[in-house]
Amino acid sequence: MTDLNLDNLAHYYIGGAWVTPDSDRVMPVMNPATEDRIGDTILANQTDVDRAVAAAAQAFETFSRSSKADRLDLLGRVLEESRKRHEDLAQAMRMEMGAPITMARTEQAESGIGHLKAFIEALRDHIEREELPNGDTLSREPIGVCGLITPWNWPINQIALKVIPALATGCTCIHKPSEHTPISAMIYAEIFHAAGVPPGVFNLIQGDGPGAGDAMSGHPDIRMISFTGSTRAGRAITRNAAETVKRVTLELGGKSPNLVFADCDLEDRVTGSVAECMYNSGQSCDAPTRLLVERSIYDDAIEIARKAAEATAVGNPVQEGDHIGPLFDKLQYDRVQALIATGIAEGARLVAGGPDKPEGMETGWYARPTIFADVRNDMTIAQEEIFGPVLVIIPFEDEGDAIDIANDTPYGLAAYIQCGDTARAERIAARLRAGAVHINGGAFNYGSPFGGYKQSGNGREGGRYGLEDYQELKTLHRP
Ligand code: NAD
Repeated sequence: MTDLNLDNLAHYYIGGAWVTPDSDRVMPVMNPATEDRIGDTILANQTDVDRAVAAAAQAFETFSRSSKADRLDLLGRVLEESRKRHEDLAQAMRMEMGAPITMARTEQAESGIGHLKAFIEALRDHIEREELPNGDTLSREPIGVCGLITPWNWPINQIALKVIPALATGCTCIHKPSEHTPISAMIYAEIFHAAGVPPGVFNLIQGDGPGAGDAMSGHPDIRMISFTGSTRAGRAITRNAAETVKRVTLELGGKSPNLVFADCDLEDRVTGSVAECMYNSGQSCDAPTRLLVERSIYDDAIEIARKAAEATAVGNPVQEGDHIGPLFDKLQYDRVQALIATGIAEGARLVAGGPDKPEGMETGWYARPTIFADVRNDMTIAQEEIFGPVLVIIPFEDEGDAIDIANDTPYGLAAYIQCGDTARAERIAARLRAGAVHINGGAFNYGSPFGGYKQSGNGREGGRYGLEDYQELKTLHRP
């Protein structure tokens, strides 16, 4: 049950108004904690995408020439409206993807505000026109109409990381959220409307990958696609976008290593590492999912991890607290169960959790916080992103061995180091092929760039670096 007004759920926000879709493909929106149907959305077709792109293209004519002061003003109003809808956003993500309400408020909904404030600061200092030492003039201009495609796991975080820099730089856009989390995206569109974003500058359609997503990546009038989601979809988008030579930025999957050295504060760091892996029910792209442990402390680390996993509460998202909630959908529950079965079949040692739902939790897509030890890095559970509350533990012999195992993955989103010697940690960090390295629990700060090496993607989101992704460079040469 909800007090949220879902009237706009089966509509799209195009050209400054809520419109009836051309498509009639209905998709139910389900609550993963109760398995109840919350409402219905409509999956856009090519006609719907064309309509949104036309509105964005028309708005680009004027919005691309808006002043930085006007855009800062606009973002200030978006910030005010975002604060007013903070609780609605939290409740929406609690319902549509099962985020426990406390973290839905303090992290999921709050991330929209944190990123927005960082973008406002970055835009203030961002130089849009400058003289080069050689006498030429450089201007940074908005790239054009942008197609923004986001996933379900951190819905508002991902939307803010794309929509805000697009608007901040004078681009116009079409946003397509995950078909599984349309409610938070609908509320975000209502925020833009209330903030007075000019018609056509921001447009929202609902839809799936093969339908709306494909129509967007292939669209001749979209100049840039910014995508967050699976590596599989990232590849498909890149291929499809190649025909029209779009700019494509990608934030994809991860299988982030967490290197635990014997001289760290073992109890604290292993307990903290398990909590970070299980957070959001393991559904974070940069979660530390491979715990690499120095041989001399291997057994102790396993024991601490086991206790931490068994102490991880799983519970109803409606209740306040620091428990984890369900997986976002039956689809994800089935995937996680299949990978747990694979881990057992491949000979990894199950230390905590395991198959099926936690006892007494028959309704809802809840999984058990699970730990595997004696994992080899070539096992499926060490190579594939599980996207559930599952940690794999792998022993290493020395620093060189740890770095080799850490880098032995197609991904390169994040890495984690637990080490008593900061200078050593920084030396190791320099050898890890990852976009971010967290040392001894150091957390992400808004405004820093976020993105991956290797098959974790291209481009960086957040702050100044996130603005640059949406700009073209123009050089003026004069006699
Ligand atoms: P997904 O790839 O299935 O879907 C993501 C989005 O892409 C959805 O909006 C979906 O409709 C759309 N989509 C799917 N196929 C498409 C296609 N062929 N063309 C265009 N659009 C398409 O991923 P998901 O299951 O929603 O999200 C989980 C994945 O996202 C994980 O792999 C996770 O690691 C990744 N992720 C990465 C980051 C990051 O910043 N690197 C952040 C969050 C999530």
